[in-house]
Amino acid sequence: MSNVIVVLFGNNGWDRSAEGAAGTGQRLAQSTGGNLNVVFLGDASKEARDGAAACAASVVVVNQPELAEYQPEAALEAAQKACAEISDTSVVLFGNDTYSQELVPRLAHRLGGCSLADVQGVTADGGQVLATRSAYGGKAMSTYSMKKTPVVLWVRARAMDPATPGAGGSLEEKAYELATPRLTITSRDVLESEGPSLEDASIIVSGGRGLGGPEAFENELKGLATAMHAVQGASRAACDAGWVPPNWQVGQTGKKVAPELYLAIAISGASQHLLGMGDSKMIAAINTDPDAPIFKHCSFGIVEDYKNVVAPLTEKLNSMG
Ligand SMILES: Cc1cc2nc3c(=O)[nH]c(=O)nc-3n(C[C@H](O)[C@H](O)[C@H](O)COP(=O)(O)OP(=O)(O)OC[C@H]3O[C@@H](n4cnc5c(N)ncnc54)[C@H](O)[C@@H]3O)c2cc1C
Repeated sequence: MSNVIVVLFGNNGWDRSAEGAAGTGQRLAQSTGGNLNVVFLGDASKEARDGAAACAASVVVVNQPELAEYQPEAALEAAQKACAEISDTSVVLFGNDTYSQELVPRLAHRLGGCSLADVQGVTADGGQVLATRSAYGGKAMSTYSMKKTPVVLWVRARAMDPATPGAGGSLEEKAYELATPRLTITSRDVLESEGPSLEDASIIVSGGRGLGGPEAFENELKGLATAMHAVQGASRAACDAGWVPPNWQVGQTGKKVAPELYLAIAISGASQHLLGMGDSKMIAAINTDPDAPIFKHCSFGIVEDYKNVVAPLTEKLNSMG
């Protein structure tokens, strides 16, 4: 038997990332014959506690003032202490938020295990943990056989299936004595945004360099996104050009998204872009070039100048209410 721990941030609630991480942890625990344990860093809502308790053998909420807002050293020490209390752990899973990305290698070091980032699949085979992730900018997949346990990973949780509710487990609150952090956060700037985040969007309308400038994002794609109840994204070329904010970027060095529908407009489909949106349930594209790589990944596409498609499509959708 070997156990699996999923570490979540209480502030994030029971979002798609939490559901996907818990689902992956549950399937992994079933294959190792161990238990799924969920640790929340910071207070968690009732929905999050209930969601976790429905699928995990144990849920620990580390609830203390130092964890009310993310502080890397406090979060790391709390995660280390909570994980150390769960014996025989083979895998510790995190979601794919930036805090998790920061903590994973440091926690692996402290627990004497090994770590891997941006994992798209994880299985256990005869006591060996195998983790899969893309390589060469998305051109190949590689499988890593992890030698030291616990294996600490952050996974593309939003693209992963949620857990199946089970018998339900224990739930307890804990607080640890934490060292005074060496690092002080003097200010926090929260980017205000309306509606769901790019990562949590069910529909994304994304634009690329072929749009020719920021005006098309504002004048045409914004209207289409509103009509489709979608969130706007972009390729790196459009972000680097300063047409849209950097946090709209989807791809290898941007956001990893997995919406129901990803509409790529005037985006060529470079491997680095595909790496961020290839998990989308359905991909559609509008592009003037019939040989654009994006079409190889599309469920459907239109070979056309976006100007001839976006405005009539928006009008049609608006007329349908
Ligand atoms: C290390 C590294 C990391 C990277 N990370 C990322 C990343 O995270 N995200 C990312 O997106 N890129 C990333 N890139 C960049 C990536 O390689 C591409 O350069 C980028 O994705 C291209 O953006 P694009 O598709 O908008 O532009 P282009 O490749 O220039 O494509 C523009 C497309 O628009 C089409 N088009 C032109 N006019 C029209 C029109 N009127 N109507 C319809 N279609 C039209 C063209 O046919 C073309 O296919 C990275 C690169 C490197 C080296």
